Amino acid sequence: MNANFQSWLGDQIQTLKDQNLYKVPKILESPAGGRVRMNGKEVVNLSSNNYLGLANHPKVRQAALEAIEKWGVGAGAVRWIGGTMSIHEELEERIAKFKNVESVLVFTGGFTANSGCIPAVVSDKDVIISDELNHASIIDGVRLSPAKYKKSEGYVFPHKDMEALEKILQNTQNFQKRMIITDGVFSMDGDIAPLPAIVELAEKYDAFVMVDDAHASGVLGKNGAGTTSHFNLYGRVDIQLGTLSKALGVIGGYIAGSAKLKDWLINRGRPYLFSTAHPPVVAAALIAAIDIMETDPEPMNRLWANTKWWKDALNEAGFDTMGSETPITPVYVGDEGAAQEMERALWEEGVYALSIVFPTVGRGKARIRTMPSAAHTQEDLEFALNAFKKVRDKLGIRA
Ligand SMILES: *Cc1c(COP(=O)(O)O)cnc(C)c1O
Repeated sequence: MNANFQSWLGDQIQTLKDQNLYKVPKILESPAGGRVRMNGKEVVNLSSNNYLGLANHPKVRQAALEAIEKWGVGAGAVRWIGGTMSIHEELEERIAKFKNVESVLVFTGGFTANSGCIPAVVSDKDVIISDELNHASIIDGVRLSPAKYKKSEGYVFPHKDMEALEKILQNTQNFQKRMIITDGVFSMDGDIAPLPAIVELAEKYDAFVMVDDAHASGVLGKNGAGTTSHFNLYGRVDIQLGTLSKALGVIGGYIAGSAKLKDWLINRGRPYLFSTAHPPVVAAALIAAIDIMETDPEPMNRLWANTKWWKDALNEAGFDTMGSETPITPVYVGDEGAAQEMERALWEEGVYALSIVFPTVGRGKARIRTMPSAAHTQEDLEFALNAFKKVRDKLGIRA
């Protein structure tokens, strides 16, 4: 061990602790669900992206077991070197149908899909125009690209500000290509991107659009097909990213678009070229998850019924849910210390819901982020609501 390096690590960690930014993950000791066992305690989990309850669905489990019998557990190679099995191809065809697009390319995660796609579709003659609240994996993908993208150079617009976006489009007409990139559903506020306006501006100024639908997949649109479906913008969004790790309950990400886009990414998407294919069991479980989404409306109906109940109940109790339009429901607290204290007190009451503080969100905009799902029962949500009320009264938080 190098003493210099180890002592640097120690100092960095201490700095995080001093700034209240040090994270200790809690450990899940049961399958994902509405009520789980975590750190030896039974709690209602309001911090999971398992929107449709598919992560532990009996049909998905069964498909996974059968796939292990048939295919074993590993793909054995990078996708283009022989790691692509027929079941991977079947999954891509199923997603393409589900999304109503020509072609889909699956990556091992949504994060990887962003870092694989974004740098591959632009050159140093191009510019990427971003919403300021885009997800970290979009930002990392953008940073890997040879295009212009910096906020300091004027290529980032204030959150959902369409006038600002139009100004940037007017000021960037000398670039060869212009890509506008946005989350479909913003992961910290739960609001939906103004995609129809973005698409119209893109068409007016000859730009193209990429939308990251990680939190819209399985949540918005026909059977959960995402924001392009939700706003009926079929054929007008060049690049759609979806995740298979959240509502679909397993792991993975994909890029949906034209056959040419897929062709190009097979040749230039670095994670496709240099990272091993998913275990075949992942593809099989995902095909079963899509079967359920296409044929059984119950999980999505329950997700939205629970979402409506939860938001209404919180608002009625005087909490501020910050205009969220999706299952992602922030509960506004404001002060960072108060939000962290509220998280700890909720945990004591048997509710797991994380506080989100600066720098993930702006200073003084701390909140508790809650996510109702199809996996919650009415009883779970009532239990959680009572805990929120009790903790607010106990701590004297003004939320
Ligand atoms: C979670 C998330 C991702 C990453 O997806 P994974 O499949 O978990 O890697 C990408 N983009 C957004 C907006 C996300 O919320």
